[in-house]
Amino acid sequence: MMFPPPSTIGVLGGGQLGRMLALEARRAGHRIAIFTDEPQGSPAGQFADLEINAAYDETAALNRFLQQVDVVTAEFENIPASCLAAVEAVKPLRPGSKAIFTTQHREREKNFLRDQGIACAPFRVVDDLSSLEAAVAELGRPCVIKTAAFGYDGKGQCKVTAETNLAEAWKGFEGHRAVVEAWVSFVCEVSVVGARGIDGSMATHGCVENQHTHHILDVTIAPARVEPQIIAQAVELWKAVAEGLDYVGTMAVEMFVTTDGKVIVNEIAPRPHNSGHYTIDACRTNQFQQQQRAVCGLPLGDASQHTPAVMINLLGDIWPAPLTHPDWSPVLDHPRAKLHLYGKREARSRRKMGHFTVLGDKIDQALKDALAIRKALGIA
Ligand code: AMP
Repeated sequence: MMFPPPSTIGVLGGGQLGRMLALEARRAGHRIAIFTDEPQGSPAGQFADLEINAAYDETAALNRFLQQVDVVTAEFENIPASCLAAVEAVKPLRPGSKAIFTTQHREREKNFLRDQGIACAPFRVVDDLSSLEAAVAELGRPCVIKTAAFGYDGKGQCKVTAETNLAEAWKGFEGHRAVVEAWVSFVCEVSVVGARGIDGSMATHGCVENQHTHHILDVTIAPARVEPQIIAQAVELWKAVAEGLDYVGTMAVEMFVTTDGKVIVNEIAPRPHNSGHYTIDACRTNQFQQQQRAVCGLPLGDASQHTPAVMINLLGDIWPAPLTHPDWSPVLDHPRAKLHLYGKREARSRRKMGHFTVLGDKIDQALKDALAIRKALGIA
């Protein structure tokens, strides 16, 4: 079913991804309703026609939200299954609960990849010390333990090296299920962001290169500086995941380019992604416009990139005080740099507060300029 403007898009989640969707959707003439467990005035709520602030299991509040919307999407994946089911029972949820349920949990996501024959690092699921010992013996060291549920930005991860005492390491995971993954030696990390429509049509923005600091995305270089055959593999993997999940909406797949020239999937995000923020300034249709189109059952736009671009994240660490912004002049002074701030009142260490994108005629120039701005802002 199609929901052209001025239909109301309901969004589960009130963060920056919902905010950037709200900006695009309202520009196109949609109404936006946000449901979030954050307080009033969330980053997305600031641009919404309606913001409902309640826990995801508060049925009365959820029903009030559902009465006001035509179609629902999510801007983060850690939503209780009961909430997804309640939404899907009365309104179209895009992507559907199956895609969100699969990708919100590392064990389910890994099993999905294995069952579909999609390349990923060898893994074992463990739930106690003896199964951890067996898994590490099979996969070898180094390897990495990751919580099965609700982990992101490197939270809930532990690298197992030759020196690691497994009994000590397991203490951090006690009582939970975890996935143990073989260590991947990679030349770089890449991602593909794209959208799939209700008719199965797909459009990706291309393949970008991601550099992380402390497990948090720091720099995205678009396009990735890799061979065309790597880009082709990455896009094929994205399509296999999108089709396997019967996905509708914008989705990101993070991948490793291994030292032996293969591309394997690391993680799936059932939503727009930080590594796709460059699309706002550098693509003909950005990841949020594609989300709006796909979720509303409208034809996808032209996702192609028109200008090389580098995106750099702005974390709370560069705020001189929680309520005091840095001096933005290094970004504002550059004619091809774009500042994006997420409307979060209070800065905290490692909190994603915004990003900037620098365009260039050549990717090397964009990268040089972006890194100079990054340095001038005092990003360590
Ligand atoms: P994740 O939260 O799974 O995306 O992991 C965060 C970061 O840890 C990744 O972006 C990689 O830089 C690193 N990492 C995660 N898993 C592995 C692995 N199996 N081998 C090597 N590095 C990894």
